[in-house]
Amino acid sequence: MKEVDFLIIGQGIAGTLLAWFLEKEGKAVAVADAFSPHAASQVAAGIINPITGRRYVKSWRVDELIPSAVQAYAELSEVFGKPFFHELPIIRTLFNRGEENDWLSRTGDPAYAPYMKEQARLGEYALHTVLAYSYGEVLKGGQADLPGLTGAYREKLRAEGRLIEGDVRYDALEVGTAGVAYEGWRAGQVVFAEGHRGASNPFFNYLPYGGAKGEVLIVRIPGVQFSKILKHRVFIVPLPVPETYWVGATYGWKFEDEKPTASGGAFLRQRLEEVLSHPFEVLSHKAAVRPTVKDRRPFLGRHPEISRFALFNGLGTKGASLGPFWAHHLAQHLCYGAPLDPEVDISRFG
Ligand SMILES: Cc1cc2nc3c(=O)[nH]c(=O)nc-3n(C[C@H](O)[C@H](O)[C@H](O)COP(=O)(O)OP(=O)(O)OC[C@H]3O[C@@H](n4cnc5c(N)ncnc54)[C@H](O)[C@@H]3O)c2cc1C
Repeated sequence: MKEVDFLIIGQGIAGTLLAWFLEKEGKAVAVADAFSPHAASQVAAGIINPITGRRYVKSWRVDELIPSAVQAYAELSEVFGKPFFHELPIIRTLFNRGEENDWLSRTGDPAYAPYMKEQARLGEYALHTVLAYSYGEVLKGGQADLPGLTGAYREKLRAEGRLIEGDVRYDALEVGTAGVAYEGWRAGQVVFAEGHRGASNPFFNYLPYGGAKGEVLIVRIPGVQFSKILKHRVFIVPLPVPETYWVGATYGWKFEDEKPTASGGAFLRQRLEEVLSHPFEVLSHKAAVRPTVKDRRPFLGRHPEISRFALFNGLGTKGASLGPFWAHHLAQHLCYGAPLDPEVDISRFG
């Protein structure tokens, strides 16, 4: 038997960050994962956007989440020698005078001042897009490279013999007095970080999971190098490869599977044609399901009856910003019994 303190099931951004924070506490960690290109962390742009919605409000707990995310991604970038976070301004299209007025009144609020600029500098967007009524600019946001980070971590786990590849069979997890045994491993604690697939985990399927499918396009815009993110109905996000952009996303609450659809692709293509005044080429079309939760708060905590099982899920539409803060929070709880914030504690569901 190979003994570890923690076995994490699922190596998307949730499982990866939790492994990192547990290892920082000196814990022995193994991770089991069935890699899928249709997992949310492989499809997401990883946008961190402090100002969201039609009313331009600060996203939930953003003042704590962003510093925590920036620090965690910086440390991981240092460890792997690759940049996993790019701070990028987000230009937000304001379609009419009402939206512009709302934007301007928000920028006057001191709590919003660090995150919003009255007017945007469009840069290359001024040359290659159909100009709209007006624009605002969001600061302190950016893009976390979730596929890059999870990929680098997977290689590290594999090289260190701590990656168990393939689907975990729930009926093969044997809970005993000495720990949980699984295929030659024994762990003191198992943490499920399975993204939307967690909805069918028999130990935690009593929780109110949602699930929102999203489709995206990866496009090349020849001769054009945007240096900021643009939100103009859809997001256009510069990728590290020159002239290449992530464009998305759709939201679907009713879906048959996690595969791209013709209608999703056509919708995104049309949105891009509306905003770009420049031809583009679609390089790929991807889809995944976001692990959303009915009350829009993450799921953290131990199983109410099987205390050797715990959960880290429900990062919803914001895994890039929520992941670091809540992975650290859960690691402190699991290692030292630090109290869980009631807003994210799964005991809120009785
Ligand atoms: C189209 C789209 C765009 C998005 N854009 C953004 C964005 O810009 N910014 C942002 O912050 N968030 C974004 N998100 C949300 C973000 O992707 C998620 O919040 C985050 O990736 C969830 O990570 P996770 O680790 O919980 O789940 P996942 O990424 O789904 O990872 C779960 C992993 O566990 C594995 N797994 C599951 N069950 C088992 C099992 N039983 N055995 C073995 N392995 C298992 C899966 O194969 C997978 O590898 C987007 C999501 C989508 C779909």
